[in-house]
Amino acid sequence: KSITTDMATLTKQIDQYAKNKKLEIETLKVREEYRKEFMGNISHELKTPLFTVQGYLETLLDGAMNDKNVAEKYLERANKGVERLIYIVKDLDMITKLEVGDLSLNVDTFDIVELVQSVFELLEMKAAKKKITLTFDMEYKDPIMVKGDEERIQQVLTNLVVNSIKYGREKGTTEISIEKLIKNKVIVRVTDNGEGIEKKHISRLFERFYRVDKSGSRKEGGSGLGLAIVKHIIEAHDEKIYVESEFNIGSEFSFTLEKARTTP
Ligand code: ADP
Repeated sequence: KSITTDMATLTKQIDQYAKNKKLEIETLKVREEYRKEFMGNISHELKTPLFTVQGYLETLLDGAMNDKNVAEKYLERANKGVERLIYIVKDLDMITKLEVGDLSLNVDTFDIVELVQSVFELLEMKAAKKKITLTFDMEYKDPIMVKGDEERIQQVLTNLVVNSIKYGREKGTTEISIEKLIKNKVIVRVTDNGEGIEKKHISRLFERFYRVDKSGSRKEGGSGLGLAIVKHIIEAHDEKIYVESEFNIGSEFSFTLEKARTTP
């Protein structure tokens, strides 16, 4: 009898082992698919600017170099292409670090009001090119101290405001507002009256490389990683990010932050 019991236990153990192995293999397969898709996306993203740069350099070598004005124009365009490549590679580097959990946060207290103002200053020129007004709506202009990694939150704000400009309409507005919530939280909202996003795309917006209008967005530059980076950074802070949008009306991206306890 004891032999049959042993056999039964052994069979169970073997079954369990086989099940675990199968699960492991499935996980590896999924990961491999994910990796392949990622690599495919990367090369796709890099190809366009690389071919652009190559095109201008080849034309220069083919003789355009002899006309100083033309040469200067082509070199400038090639340089723009290289800038775009650097931008994409930086975003890729960031998303990789965030995804493998390699990016530790440097948490401290900082004034979110001041940070919004500095982001607006940095992006003023970009907004002006599209005659977009940047407004900061706040009940109080006093400092609001929050807890977080200031550099990363600056990146979140920058990505959101840059998007509101890119997908905003000429002479539109981008408004940032900060509201104090109960339970020691604040919510930062970035609102635009731009092209908006159709409902069916909303749930996928934060996926890396996801774009609503492939050709349109690429014309606007960007890596398709901006919102994925934003989401990772906010979640690394254990905070929440929300989006509300209406097609042809505008969008609102908002995120929460923890208020810092003010020392007397
Ligand atoms: P991209 O580099 O394409 O801007 P993001 O990850 O920042 O990548 O954004 C993903 C997509 O979400 C964009 O391609 C665009 O279609 C849409 N999107 C983001 N922000 C806005 C906005 N403020 N208004 C309308 N569409 C937006």
